[in-house]
Amino acid sequence: MRLDSFTLLVAFCAAMIFLGFALLYFWNLDRASKWLLWWSMPFLIGGAAVIPYMRPDWASDFYSIGFGNAARITALCLLWQGARVFERRKPFVLVVLLTPVVWIGLCLIPPFFASMAARVVGVSLFNAAFCALAAYELWRGRAEALASRKPAIVVLLTFTALMLLRVATVNLLPFPMGALPLDPVWMGIFNLAVFVHASFLGFLLIALTKERREAEQRGFAILDPLTGLMNRRAFMSQVERSGRRRKFGREPLALLVLDLDHFKSINDRFGHDVGDRVLVAFATVAEACARPADQLYRMGGEEFCFILPDTTLLDAIAVAERVRKAFADNSVQTGRGRASATVSIGVAMTDHAGCDLELLLAAADAAVYEAKARGRNRVVVADPIALRQATPYPDSDFVQRRKSA
Ligand code: GH3
Ligand code: MG
Ligand code: MG
Repeated sequence: MRLDSFTLLVAFCAAMIFLGFALLYFWNLDRASKWLLWWSMPFLIGGAAVIPYMRPDWASDFYSIGFGNAARITALCLLWQGARVFERRKPFVLVVLLTPVVWIGLCLIPPFFASMAARVVGVSLFNAAFCALAAYELWRGRAEALASRKPAIVVLLTFTALMLLRVATVNLLPFPMGALPLDPVWMGIFNLAVFVHASFLGFLLIALTKERREAEQRGFAILDPLTGLMNRRAFMSQVERSGRRRKFGREPLALLVLDLDHFKSINDRFGHDVGDRVLVAFATVAEACARPADQLYRMGGEEFCFILPDTTLLDAIAVAERVRKAFADNSVQTGRGRASATVSIGVAMTDHAGCDLELLLAAADAAVYEAKARGRNRVVVADPIALRQATPYPDSDFVQRRKSA
């Protein structure tokens, strides 16, 4: 393999500056993505810092040993800060400012300046540390699932390994400090590896931003902004998925429809703002009465729906009663006294109706109507006989099990 240093450096410089401007361009389109501004800097600095190395007579020793290395180390420090900002942490601005100062300070110590091995070890350790810290930040944010997160961590860690390899081999492989065209083959390979890593990383950083924005858009489409609960659209897609996979075919599942009583009068008496606060209070109370696996949806207006997996009829009634009582005891403080409301709840079970969630929803809805008719603030169970007759899955596990029981 022939890797000519000059060509490599020109290609590296062009690619880094291109990626730097690409990151700046995407930041300009979406100024809230401040991490893109941070991430553009290491690429622009890294690209510009290699220009003096392109010709042997362009870079003095003082530049290549002092400023060239200071620029590269600072670039990786900025990469780490970008990762912090991406993970919604504060960047360490002081560390960025001190990094080149520390390096120049080290270079002012004559034995350090004179020892090529010491300098190579110094630069490589700084770079390895900043890369590893950037990888650590991205790893800490792993709860936010993004497709490019793992590849970015892997690239940062292999880059870290590359830098540590340079430390381990410092006495085996002499480093040509700004001494082009001296370029042993290994040096070309090392530079090529840095080039490939940096380019790949640049694309991954742009991809991470795009994936985060897409995930946020998907979230906006399925979340109710007032309560933070999933909305009817999310419920319907759950219905579709469970229908396709017959996900709820094994264990009994309860579906609760919950409709606040005389909610219109809360709005009329206290105003829409208080009505909103009562809705939020209801969501909080209802979720507190259920298990983490139970999913509460806001179906629209003052109507909610609970999906309780692996739940028997008695457990479902118990949850419904807990929610009903807790909400009746709850009130919202307003300028005109306390606003309180009650809720009517309809319960429908898969072991009566099979796993058709749409049918269950209709049955629980009918039960809510009945609860309203019987005076509100109560729990009514959907008629199991009517449900069993209406079920499109008369052969479902539950219906069979119940028939044979
Ligand atoms: P019922 O006991 O029969 O359920 O009576 P209700 O007043 O609760 O039912 P109705 O369907 O007549 O009224 C629902 C009210 O909910 C009307 C609407 O203004 C109010 N509402 C719907 N969405 C919101 C919202 O996001 N915020 C507020 N504050 N009110 C809402
Ligand atoms: Mg209502
Ligand atoms: Mg209603």
